[in-house]
Order: sequence, then structure tokens, then C-alpha cells
Amino acid sequence: MNFFNLLELMAARQAPREVGLTKDEIKNLKRITYQGDNKNKPENEKDLCTICYCEFEKDEKLVELRCKHVYHEECITKWVERNAKCPVCKAPQTDRPIFTEEE
Ligand SMILES: [Zn+2]
Ligand SMILES: [Zn+2]
Repeated sequence: MNFFNLLELMAARQAPREVGLTKDEIKNLKRITYQGDNKNKPENEKDLCTICYCEFEKDEKLVELRCKHVYHEECITKWVERNAKCPVCKAPQTDRPIFTEEE
């Protein structure tokens, strides 16, 4: 093995970096307002944000992802800035490749 093989090997071992959504993509996420009736739902059927584990309240601003999972706008915005996939089902929220090679 020569020096260049070794360099290649090291480059290959470096995991690609995951990137989040762009500002525009975040802006284009589907915003909804919660109109459900969480108060009257049985405990195990309440709609909640699986990022902060808080139940949705009427008129709260939410974001519905492509995969139909719903989160607080605030919670999911922070999440997708760093990670372009749904926190629950890992569905990509963009058609771009979401990995970049480390320079
Ligand atoms: Zn939340
Ligand atoms: Zn999802």
C-alpha cells in the first residue's frame, strides 16, 4: 500500500455530512393551524409533537411534512435546519441529495 492508497482509504472512511433544508425549503413547508379537539380525546389518541412531547392546542401553528407527520412549527423548523428528514419516519423532506461530501 502506498501513500495515495492510504489517503483514499481515509477519505472513504469519512462519513458524508447530513445537511438540513435550505431557508426557502423551510419557508415552503406546509403550515397548518391545529383545529383538533385534543382535550376530549382519550389519553393514547391525543395529537402531540414528538419533538417536544407537548400536546397540540387549538389554533397552534403546526407544520405538516410530506409524510403527513405534524409538529409544532417552532420545533420542526429547528430540526430541519440541521436534518432534512422527518424525526419519526426518516422520510426526506426535499428532492435534493441531502448528503454533502466534507470538503
Ligand atoms: Zn413541539
Ligand atoms: Zn414522517
